[in-house]
Amino acid sequence: MLVVACVKQVPDTTQVKIDPETGTLIREGVPFIINPFDTHALEESLRLKDEYGFRVAAISMGPPNTEVTLRKTLALGVDRAILLSDRVFGGADTLATSMVIAEAVKRLAQEEEVAMVICGKQTIDGDTAQVGPGIASRCGYSQLTLVDQIKSVDVEARKVVVRRKLEGRHEIVEAALPAVLTVVREINRPRYPTVPMRLKAEEAEVALWDNKVMQLDETAIGLKGSPTQVRRIFSPERVKGEILGDGMNEPGEAARLLVDTLVSKDIVSP
Ligand SMILES: Cc1cc2nc3c(=O)[nH]c(=O)nc-3n(C[C@H](O)[C@H](O)[C@H](O)COP(=O)(O)OP(=O)(O)OC[C@H]3O[C@@H](n4cnc5c(N)ncnc54)[C@H](O)[C@@H]3O)c2cc1C
Repeated sequence: MLVVACVKQVPDTTQVKIDPETGTLIREGVPFIINPFDTHALEESLRLKDEYGFRVAAISMGPPNTEVTLRKTLALGVDRAILLSDRVFGGADTLATSMVIAEAVKRLAQEEEVAMVICGKQTIDGDTAQVGPGIASRCGYSQLTLVDQIKSVDVEARKVVVRRKLEGRHEIVEAALPAVLTVVREINRPRYPTVPMRLKAEEAEVALWDNKVMQLDETAIGLKGSPTQVRRIFSPERVKGEILGDGMNEPGEAARLLVDTLVSKDIVSP
């Protein structure tokens, strides 16, 4: 059985700047990384391979240079890597992205029974957290979001039990396989590639599935198939902070200074 790990290549947003004139991301010289949540999706897929003997496929939709990201997944131990790349896939919103990925999962399922698709909780660039659920609904698979632990997998009965991390509580859920899981950071600690695996990955094949392979209706994918378009990206304006006192004030004096300032600015009433 196969586990499919979905990985997106994203700009390292700690270093991304926004062009104030155009409101677009400045991509020149910005390094690309595997979306951090997806490193946990990959690790969990590889952990399932170690424990249950599943095979693992890594899948990514993106420009041709995404091959570099997929090669990193091969170095970690995935069995096959598939790059979904074609001009007609470009400019996709979450609807069109999940549509192409779901079709790729269905293609894989024709070759090997798919047990699970594992995604990150969200990306650090688009941040929508919609692609995992989108894949689940398009494939007709069970949907388990915010998973912080896979408790058990019953391959015979085609069932999985997971723990979901919710606001202030956990939830234990059983679902039928195949299932799409989206995972949070707490689920595991990603492994590092070994030097021999890295060298082996350089030689391994990253399969390119373009639209000649996928044969998808061009009006349902990419920009044409995307009802949502991002019009503008901008950093919120930062209001300059004000430092009160000289840092040497007594607590009572500091509190009075703070209250007087808040009153004078009409933030609290006297
Ligand atoms: C700043 C910014 C804002 C955006 N806002 C929107 C918006 O409001 N609405 C909208 O529809 N689109 C938006 N997009 C476009 C969006 O990035 C793409 O549709 C993207 O391919 C998927 O959405 P996401 O990044 O939010 O993924 P999420 O839904 O946050 O990703 C969840 C998981 O799905 C998997 N995944 C996501 N994308 C891929 C991929 N390309 N290949 C493989 N696995 C993947 C990963 O496992 C990932 O962890 C935005 C893009 C940017 C850069």
